[in-house]
Amino acid sequence: NADTAMYRAKDQGRNNYRFYAPTMNVSGMERLELENGLRYALERNEMVVYYQPRVNIGTGQIMGMEALVRWQHPELGLVSPGQFIPLAEETGLIVPIGDWVLETACRQNKAWQDAGYPPMHVAVNLSARQFQSPGLTERVREVLEETGLESQYLELEITESITMHDIDFTISVLRELSAMGTLISIDDFGTGYSSLNYLKHFPINTLKIDQSFVREIAIDPYNAAIVTTVIYLAQNLKLKVIAEGVETEEQLSYLREHQCDEMQGYLFSRPVPAEEFEKLLKARQLQIEKTS
Ligand code: C2E
Ligand code: MG
Ligand code: MG
Ligand code: MG
Repeated sequence: NADTAMYRAKDQGRNNYRFYAPTMNVSGMERLELENGLRYALERNEMVVYYQPRVNIGTGQIMGMEALVRWQHPELGLVSPGQFIPLAEETGLIVPIGDWVLETACRQNKAWQDAGYPPMHVAVNLSARQFQSPGLTERVREVLEETGLESQYLELEITESITMHDIDFTISVLRELSAMGTLISIDDFGTGYSSLNYLKHFPINTLKIDQSFVREIAIDPYNAAIVTTVIYLAQNLKLKVIAEGVETEEQLSYLREHQCDEMQGYLFSRPVPAEEFEKLLKARQLQIEKTS
């Protein structure tokens, strides 16, 4: 009942309401078509990896990038992950798709290093299903070997939802990955339900502050307080902290003032195809050559 929901929300002293859409907002027919298409998307070369730069807030230097998958659908055009990742999760297709993203991103990062660009890390999202699939750590090791990328240049992004399933299993997988030298970050930090206690037990390198908090820095003091608190938490735990979804100068100056390490957002660049990302790297190199 919408009225009661509204009433409860007001009761909690909030005045901004959000409407959560179901994970897939499509009809059964469309879903079936998507699911069929998704099954063949990889072999038909329809998946594309976009890259979004992660930038040092103090210096403006590109420190790395996040690999974000897109589906170039023959009829629908570019389909965003929000529209097919939930379906890929449900059907298990996320495992081969995620595996392909991992390999593509590592190969691309190594190619940029070989081309002479300063070494950066590439962050790859791991879904819960992928995390729980057997042989993940072996697969990561294999991909690093095959592509020749050093493990320190790969970061794996997990969400708090992973931690909810089986803590002991999660800890053992994370420890193996970390022992291999790959970095681990918690994505969308602050939106999950896990306890802060796990931060102590997990070998984590980075916290990524969810964009919902960043978006409202300037208009909602509660969100601003959450952002500041996560930054302090990360500093005290000696973790790197990254703000996601930075779109305005106002947000950037707040983050700079509170000494957030890195930012990712449309303000600097949207996720772009590899060729365009390379242009960003080239422009950056020219700038450095000019000033030195
Ligand atoms: P995420 O990992 O939290 O990625 C950040 C999302 O925020 C991306 O959406 C990015 O395009 C978007 N974003 C970045 N800066 C801004 C900004 O300034 N404003 C706004 N409004 N949005 C911004 P995208 O690419 O649509 O991906 C959505 C989600 O899909 C990702 O969230 C991630 O959870 C999932 N995803 C994407 N690629 C993969 C993948 O290869 N594997 C898995 N398992 N999940 C993926
Ligand atoms: Mg991510
Ligand atoms: Mg995120
Ligand atoms: Mg997300």
